[in-house]
Amino acid sequence: MKYELLKTEGKAKRGRFHTVHGVIETPVFMNVGTVAAIKGAVSTDDLRQIKTQVELSNTYHLHVRTGDKLIKELGGLHKFMAWDKPILTDSGGFQVFSLAGIRKIKEEGVTFNSHIDGRKIFMGPEESMQIQSNLGSTIAMAFDECPPALAERKYVEDSVARTTRWLNRCKAEMARLNSLDDTINKEQLLFGINQGAVYNDIRIEHAKIISELDLPGYAVGGLAVGESHEQMYDVLDHVVPYLPQNKPTYLMGVGTPANILESVERGIDFFDCVYPSRNGRHGHVYTNHGKLNLFNQKFEKDMRPIEEGCGCPACRTYSRAYIRHLLKAKEMLGMRLCVLHNLYFYNTMMEEIRDALDAGMFATYKKNKLASMEAGEE
Ligand SMILES: [Zn+2]
Repeated sequence: MKYELLKTEGKAKRGRFHTVHGVIETPVFMNVGTVAAIKGAVSTDDLRQIKTQVELSNTYHLHVRTGDKLIKELGGLHKFMAWDKPILTDSGGFQVFSLAGIRKIKEEGVTFNSHIDGRKIFMGPEESMQIQSNLGSTIAMAFDECPPALAERKYVEDSVARTTRWLNRCKAEMARLNSLDDTINKEQLLFGINQGAVYNDIRIEHAKIISELDLPGYAVGGLAVGESHEQMYDVLDHVVPYLPQNKPTYLMGVGTPANILESVERGIDFFDCVYPSRNGRHGHVYTNHGKLNLFNQKFEKDMRPIEEGCGCPACRTYSRAYIRHLLKAKEMLGMRLCVLHNLYFYNTMMEEIRDALDAGMFATYKKNKLASMEAGEE
């Protein structure tokens, strides 16, 4: 058994996922390293200091620059970036549909132009699985289309039907690749992705169909792409009960600390989001008393750490005043310290969530955490 459901509180799940690269305690926040590095000059050595359990890399980005074939030749992504813990790779689908210049979506896959050099590339379910197999990630994501949140019903129905056919092809191709002699990670796991925009009935029907494929995990995709938070929670309320409870559930691309607390309550156990690293690069840091903008004048003489009692590499040594100075002077260290603090904040919050679930105190923890973050400082 790969996923152990250790405890539940309402719909919230406390789990343990066993992989070939080690155990993942859930709920977990995966730290996003787009091109096999967390933006903000954060190394895999740093990740070990800030409680990172899973690193997430982007298939599309690694395919168009440096190339998955070269990475395979060099021993795979784990060896390449010197990280021996779990790695999740996305399918490339989201970037193909959002970043690249799409030429055409066909049954076989998608033709698009690389955003780096404009070169024409074809990617379908088989290509996405081959690229992720070359990278050798722990968890590979299915190749899907993420329709816009506010797309018309007919478009979403057709798109979801194709995503289902693509998922079957992903599963077959992954099984084939895992059986080859020269495959780097022969135990690569495939997660399916639920789609359907904000149409709950389409999503529920899709969830039932993909659940029958008995994949090692399931994601809810196509959220946090323009719909309101209330719509997102409504989708989760309706759809998560139709995904297997004895498998990990992953909410893709979400979100703020409040989004995560609300979604854990609705049964999600994997998360990823660029917010902590992106905000950190802009001097915005998370604390238990709300978010601070370190560029603010009021931190000029503030010799306190970003957060009292925080064990991150920034707070253990440096003051708000010094980090503000670094940010103003455009020194890379300022950015780096903010990103390290923010990821540590997220990873620590997930640890607190797991402890609260273990103790049967999640509801109380969530209420107090939200109240404290909303109240702000002083
Ligand atoms: Zn800190």
